[in-house]
Parts: sequence; structure tokens; C-alpha cells
Amino acid sequence: MTDPITCPECEGRKGQRLGELFLACRFCGGLGWVGGRNEPAERGECPPPAGPPPVWEHRVWQEPAVAAALLCRYCLGSRQVTTMNEEARTMTMAACPECAA
Ligand SMILES: [Zn+2]
Ligand SMILES: [Zn+2]
Repeated sequence: MTDPITCPECEGRKGQRLGELFLACRFCGGLGWVGGRNEPAERGECPPPAGPPPVWEHRVWQEPAVAAALLCRYCLGSRQVTTMNEEARTMTMAACPECAA
């Protein structure tokens, strides 16, 4: 969420006049400004995806050749995985739960 600013595409004119036609600016949706609740990236019929699936659930692993080519789907053979330390808000390396077992 950002503070509303004048639309950089139409410079606040809300669109472009073409003869008899007035084309509403696609970037700001014809409002003349973007930001706040009019975030261009947040608009659209489809709700944004909740985020990419975990890498080990990626559909690439349904390919037997891919799964066989890589030693471990968690660490990709490096024996270490990157984990997020929520409290410290830092990325730390940890032993791969698959390989270290
Ligand atoms: Zn605009
Ligand atoms: Zn591993």
C-alpha cells in the first residue's frame, strides 16, 4: 500500500481523448491517480495467488527424470537448506532434514 500519486501514465488526465472517444487510462483505471486502494497491481478479477508453492511441491517433481537427476528435492544435494528465522528475521542455513536423517 502506497500513498496515492498522480498517475504517471495519464498524468492525472484520467485517460486519453481520441476524437470523439475518451479512453480511460488503463494504468489507473481512469481515476487519474494510483496508489492507496487503487494499486494497479492489486486490481483484477482474480485474487492474487497466495504465493508460489513450496519448491518440493512444485510440479516439476512429478517428472521422474527431474526427480532422479537431483539427489534431494529439499537441498538439491547440497545437504543444507535455507530456513527463515522468524524471530531474528534472518536466513540461516540448516542441515537438510532429508539428508541429515
Ligand atoms: Zn492514468
Ligand atoms: Zn537433502
